[in-house]
Amino acid sequence: MKKDGRMNSIKDKVFANTRISAQDALFLFESDDIIALGEMANCRLKNSVKEPREVYYSYNININPTNICRLRCKLCAFSKSPGDDGAYSQTAGEIVSRVKKALKANPGEHIEAHIVGGLDPAYDISFYENLLRSLKSLSDKITIQAFTAVEIDYLSKLDKISVDEVLKTLKQAGLDAMPGGGAEIFNDEIRSVICEKKIKSGEWLGIMKKAHGHGIPTNATMLYGHVENDSDRVRHLELLRELQDETSGFKSFVPLAFHDKNAMVKKKRYTSGFDDLKVLAVSRIFLDNFSNVKALHNMLGLKFAQATLFFGANDLGGTSFDERIVKAAGACQAAEVSEADLIRLIEGAQKIPVLTDSTYSLKIKRSS
Ligand code: SF4
Repeated sequence: MKKDGRMNSIKDKVFANTRISAQDALFLFESDDIIALGEMANCRLKNSVKEPREVYYSYNININPTNICRLRCKLCAFSKSPGDDGAYSQTAGEIVSRVKKALKANPGEHIEAHIVGGLDPAYDISFYENLLRSLKSLSDKITIQAFTAVEIDYLSKLDKISVDEVLKTLKQAGLDAMPGGGAEIFNDEIRSVICEKKIKSGEWLGIMKKAHGHGIPTNATMLYGHVENDSDRVRHLELLRELQDETSGFKSFVPLAFHDKNAMVKKKRYTSGFDDLKVLAVSRIFLDNFSNVKALHNMLGLKFAQATLFFGANDLGGTSFDERIVKAAGACQAAEVSEADLIRLIEGAQKIPVLTDSTYSLKIKRSS
């Protein structure tokens, strides 16, 4: 089939709200017709959510308890070994007092505590169980999104208990949702280059499946722009779509462009704005069973994040108070932004700002 004919047949599928194949997704990744991609992504967005004009954001505080990590993945700019310059470890008391301060500064506000950190034996299941209970006792307006699948696997091995037991314990202590980190790219040959000690693709998917089975909603991510190719991206999306068909447990898909500052893996090329829009749009078109696609403003920059709202994104992430991991990797805009800035940005795109949390059960419309 000629190029135009192939594009038109994919458009027909999307406009009829039917599924596209992996080969279709590969064709879209190879296409330069960014306007057609935006048009199809918008159409898919309209068919995936009740209110396509609503754009979500959260008021969040980032908690990275320690940057000491036993894995020292080559892709990671955040981790340190014990004794390294810049290695830090926060106590539960320090973390709780930071959250208390945030609550005091924003009385009555819904706050999401986003907790992810390095893998260090000092931070075992009892540490996190107590931390989650302490944070939950501060306010009934705190949502806790914490622990990547990699951390869940580590806690299971460290504490010599099953993954199910880890998930059950953390959920009982107050875990509301899990982030989607650690997925990287589902190609184990590439994982052996960029994060050789990290759990394999199948293990990541297996832990997410178990989390969904425990009623813990999660995000899914894809790290792109390192050594992967378009086929790897498509396979990654395909495995996510298959698991979502089974569990419906993913709340949001979050594509993450790789930043190589301070990381041992170097990029073969930087992602361009064109690449970033393409990944968002193709993901939205292919992942027809995901409601939300998140474009993180702190990685993409505020103005660019606004443009992604026309390429499939309907969530801009959080206010990102004190984010360390993205900052360490040298993202283009790692500073926190105010809620007012996000509201103005969303309204500027003629969309409706809605404050939410990682479960998307909280939905409060806001305006400037
Ligand atoms: S990416 Fe995660 S697991 Fe890997 S070194 Fe960094 S903190 Fe540790």
